[in-house]
Amino acid sequence: MGGKLTGVVGRQSGYRGRLAPTPSGMLHAGHARTFREAWVRAHSEKGTLVLRMEDIDRERCRPEYEEAVLEDLAWMGIRWDEGGFRGGEYGPYRQSDRLKEHERVFRSLIKSGFVYPSDASRKEILAENPGREIDGGVFFPGNFRKSAAGYTPRTDVNWRFRVPDGRRVVFKDGERGTVSYVAGEDFGDFLIWRKSGSPSYELAVVADDIAMKITEVVRGEDLLLSTARQILIYEAVGARVPRFCHVPLVCEESGARLSKTAKSVSIRELREKGWTPEEVFEWADHRAKLVEVPGES
Ligand code: GLU
Repeated sequence: MGGKLTGVVGRQSGYRGRLAPTPSGMLHAGHARTFREAWVRAHSEKGTLVLRMEDIDRERCRPEYEEAVLEDLAWMGIRWDEGGFRGGEYGPYRQSDRLKEHERVFRSLIKSGFVYPSDASRKEILAENPGREIDGGVFFPGNFRKSAAGYTPRTDVNWRFRVPDGRRVVFKDGERGTVSYVAGEDFGDFLIWRKSGSPSYELAVVADDIAMKITEVVRGEDLLLSTARQILIYEAVGARVPRFCHVPLVCEESGARLSKTAKSVSIRELREKGWTPEEVFEWADHRAKLVEVPGES
């Protein structure tokens, strides 16, 4: 799927997709592929493409990266219709400006009993459940669960979502068909609110995708498992679950996936070496690799 991308998407249908970059580093070829796919899908549906800056991690995100993201998108010819400097009726479009909305959803989860406060540290959890580290996090064993009943809804403690153990969460992925994960086996109780007073990634993304009326989420395959968690939040708040499309990750020659933390070669560096956007896309396509997921058909 090479070729030049041009123009905004069009806003003629009810399709609403989004680009959701985190400005914590320079974009790499994996982002190029994901954002191109989001653009192509929104474009072919004559829908609206929204740009939302996911900058809730104030320690890692920086204005210069935000600027670089916008510049790199422009260089690749990936345009959006709403958000970023374009504004729109579902703003603000910077996640750090949406804390009130995140808190509103968080409080509704407390009210309906889906979340509970927990001060257990990573060390304590691992001591109880050695070796159970999943998806870069710890597996949260049930005996750490508490009832939120009668607990003041303080925002200065960690809160977790109580997953329905044994429930199979199934979704149809636009790229790879049916995907499923089992709650309590493939993932445990996950963070909803941080004691620092900010939302977790899962909560912020779902709250914002609901508020921005997103109908299809296009993102990297590293977030496949997160999708299962997020579906549980949609259900808990009674919102319509969007469609999902997870784009295969781009890997180094060694097989390791590109990442900001591993300081993988950035789109900017390739551009400075004289690469064209088409060459970046071609290289990314060549290096794309599917991640393995359970229950795939
Ligand atoms: N902001 C996330 C990232 O850059 C993507 C989140 C999402 O698409 O849900 O990895």
